[in-house]
Amino acid sequence: MNNFRFHVVAEASKKAPLKIVTPKERPSAYFGKYVFNRAKMQKYLPENVFQQLSDVIDNGAHFNRAIADAVATGMKQWAQENGATHYTHWFQPLTEGTAEKHDAFVEFDGKGGMIEEFSGKLLIQQEADSSSFPNGGIRNTFEARGYSAWDPTSPVFIVDDTLCIPTIFISYTGEALDYKAPLLRSLHAVDVAATAVCQYFDTQIKKVHTNLGWEQEYFLVDEDLYHARPDLMLTGRTLMGHDAAKNQQMDDHYLGTIPERVQAYMKDLEIRALELGIPCKTRHNEVAPNQFELAPIFEECNLANDHNMLLMSLMKRVARKHGFRVLLHEKPFAGINGSGKHNNWSLSTDTGVLLHAPGKTAEDNLRFVVFLVETLMCVYRHNGLLKASIMSATNAHRLGANEAPPAIISSFLGKQLSDLLHHIEVADKDDLFTLNGKQGMMLDIPEIPELFLDNTDRNRTSPFAFTGNRFEFRAVGSEANCACALIVLNTAMAEALNDFKQRVDELIAKGEDKTSAIIDVLRKDIKTCKPIHFDGNGYSDEWVEEAKRRGLDCENSCPIVFDRYLDEQSIEMFESTGVMARNELVARNEVKWEMYTKKIQIEARVMGDLTMNHIIPVATHYQSQIAENVSHMFNIFERTEAEKLTCRNKKIIREIAERTQRIETGVEELINARKIANKITSERDKAIAYHDTVAPKMEEIRYQIDKLELIVSDELWTLPKYRELLFIR
Ligand code: ADP
Ligand code: MG
Repeated sequence: MNNFRFHVVAEASKKAPLKIVTPKERPSAYFGKYVFNRAKMQKYLPENVFQQLSDVIDNGAHFNRAIADAVATGMKQWAQENGATHYTHWFQPLTEGTAEKHDAFVEFDGKGGMIEEFSGKLLIQQEADSSSFPNGGIRNTFEARGYSAWDPTSPVFIVDDTLCIPTIFISYTGEALDYKAPLLRSLHAVDVAATAVCQYFDTQIKKVHTNLGWEQEYFLVDEDLYHARPDLMLTGRTLMGHDAAKNQQMDDHYLGTIPERVQAYMKDLEIRALELGIPCKTRHNEVAPNQFELAPIFEECNLANDHNMLLMSLMKRVARKHGFRVLLHEKPFAGINGSGKHNNWSLSTDTGVLLHAPGKTAEDNLRFVVFLVETLMCVYRHNGLLKASIMSATNAHRLGANEAPPAIISSFLGKQLSDLLHHIEVADKDDLFTLNGKQGMMLDIPEIPELFLDNTDRNRTSPFAFTGNRFEFRAVGSEANCACALIVLNTAMAEALNDFKQRVDELIAKGEDKTSAIIDVLRKDIKTCKPIHFDGNGYSDEWVEEAKRRGLDCENSCPIVFDRYLDEQSIEMFESTGVMARNELVARNEVKWEMYTKKIQIEARVMGDLTMNHIIPVATHYQSQIAENVSHMFNIFERTEAEKLTCRNKKIIREIAERTQRIETGVEELINARKIANKITSERDKAIAYHDTVAPKMEEIRYQIDKLELIVSDELWTLPKYRELLFIR
C-alpha cells in the first residue's frame, strides 16, 4: 500500500525555516504603515474636515455627512498611493469570521468610459446583498436588504490591494446582524453609566473608555500533515487520534525555545501586524506541543477587537506562506491543553485614571472599590449569561477539561482585596470614616500596597480573575469574536453602575452625605455578591459542589446555556441599557442554536466518512494480513504448535473484528440519531438533540478507533498520528 501518511511526514520533515528580513527601520517607523491613522488624516484631509472627524472619533460627535466626500477623497488618494485598487466594507457577521466584498475604485463616467471614483456615499453606507449570512429570521430572504455602515472610530486600513473600511452590519429596520453594532452600543452604555458614577469623585471626567488586551493562543500544524487529516481540514479539530506517548507531561514546551520555523512565522506575522497598526508585544510557546501565543498591548475595546479579528485572518494567510496551518479551534487535540483567548478588561477615564486600579489616597481607593465591587455585582447577577457569551460547540470541549476553568463563572480577588472588602463590610461604620473638620470625611480604607500589583493572581484556575489593574476574562474561546463576551460584560457593568448610582442618589436625596451613601450601598453589595468570589482551585470537584450550593449557574450543555440570553433579567438588562432589543436577542439565539447543530452535524458526517473510508478498510486490511499469517503457520507447523504460536495473532484478529463491528454499529446509530434530530423543527430542540444524542455517539466511536490505532500496523495507518501532528515543525 502506498501510504500517503509516510509521504507527507517525509515532506514535512524536510521543510526549512523561511528567511524573514526585518525592515531596516525601527518598528515605530513602520507601525501603522497601512493604516489611515491620525497623522495621515491630517496630511490627506482639509484642516476643517480633519477637525470635525477627530471630534467624531474622540468625543463621539455626530458625523456630518457634508464632509463625507472630502474624507473619501483623502482616503482614496492615500490608498492609491499605497497600491490599492479596490475597497471593501469589512464587517463581522454572526459567522465568527469577517466578511468583505471588494469593489474596484471605478465607475462609468457617463460618456462610455470609466473614472476612478470613491464617494462619501460609498464610504458611509452600502447595501450588502448578503442574504446568506445568518440572521435568525430577522431578514427573510425576500427582504434581503442589510446595510453596512462605516464605523469612523476604527481607522481604515489596506490589505494587499484593498482598502478595508470597518463597518457595522444592520438590517433594513435597524437590528444588528453583526457583533460590532451591539459592541459599540455596549461601549456607549458603559461609558455613560461609568461617567455618571465618576462624577461622585471628579466632575472633570467626561468620558470613560473600555480597554481590551487579548492574548491569542493557537496551534500550528505542518500543512502537508494537515492535508492528510480530513477532520482537521473540515472541522478544525482531530475527531480521532490516540495520545502520543509524550505530549505535555514534561512541561518542556511552555516558554521553551521557539522552534526555528515557528520563529520565522512569528517574525513575519508580527511585521505584517505592526504595519497594520496591531501593537504586538509578546510571543511565546504555550503549554501543549506546537501551541503558541501572541499578545499585543491593550487598546480601546472596539479597536482592539477589530485588531484581533484582523490578526486572526492574517495568521491564517501568513501561516500558509510558511507551510503551516494555524488552528484556532479551542480543542484541536484531545488529552492536551486547548486554546483560549484571555480578555484583559478594564475601564479608564479621559483624565487618565484607570478605574480598576487602586490609587494613592483613600478617596482614590474608595472609587477603586466601587468599580471593583460593581464588577463583581455584574458578574454575579449575570454569571449564567456571561457563560452563555463564551459558549460554543467548539469552546465547550475546553471548558471543564483539565486545563481550563469549569463551566462555572466565578471571580478571583486574592488575599489583600478579599481582606479589604471584608474590612469594609464588617467594620463599624463610625470606624470606617470619621469626620475630620474642614477636610470633610476621612476614610479608613486601608492602603493597598504597591507590592500588590505584582503579587496578584497566578491563580490560573479562575475564569474571571482580578490581576492588579484589570479583570482577566479567561473563558473566552481562541476562535471566538471577543465582542460576543464583551457585549455582555460591558452591558452588565453598565447596568450595575446605573443601579448603584440610583441607590446612592436615593440616599443622598434623603439627606445622607455622599461618601456615607456610597459606603452604605457598597457594604450591601459586598454582601450580595459574595457567592461569585472564589479564590480556591477552580479545577477541583469540590468547587462544582460548592458552586451549586452558592446558586451559581452550573449548566454545561451548550444549547441549554444559550437559554440564559432569553431570561427575563437578561432581556431587561439589554433593553434598559439600549444595547439590544428582545427580537434581536431571539434572532441571535436562533443563529447560535443553528450554528451549534451545523458544527456537530459536519463533525458527525466527517466521522462517518473517515470511519468507512479510512479506519475500517485499514483495520480489515491488517486483519487479513495476519489472518494469512495464521493460515501459513498451520501449513508450516503441526496443529498443536500452530495453535500455540498463532494465539496472539488470533487475539488481534478477534479484537479488530469486535472493534470494527462496534464502530460500524456506532456509525449506524450516529446516522439514525442525526436523522431523528434533523426532523425537529425548533432550532433549540434540534441543538439539544444533537448535544444529547449525536455528540456522545461520536465519542463512543472515537474510543474504538483510538484503540485500533494502537494495534494496527503503523505501516498501514493512513492518518497522521498525534506525535507527528504535534512534534513536526
Ligand atoms: P499574562 O501574564 O496574563 O500572560 P500578559 O502580560 O502576557 O499577561 O498580557 C496581558 C495583556 O493584558 C496584555 O495585552 C496587556 O496589554 C493587557 N493589559 C495590561 N494592563 C491592562 C489593563 N489595565 N486593562 C486591560 N488590559 C491590560
Ligand atoms: Mg493572561
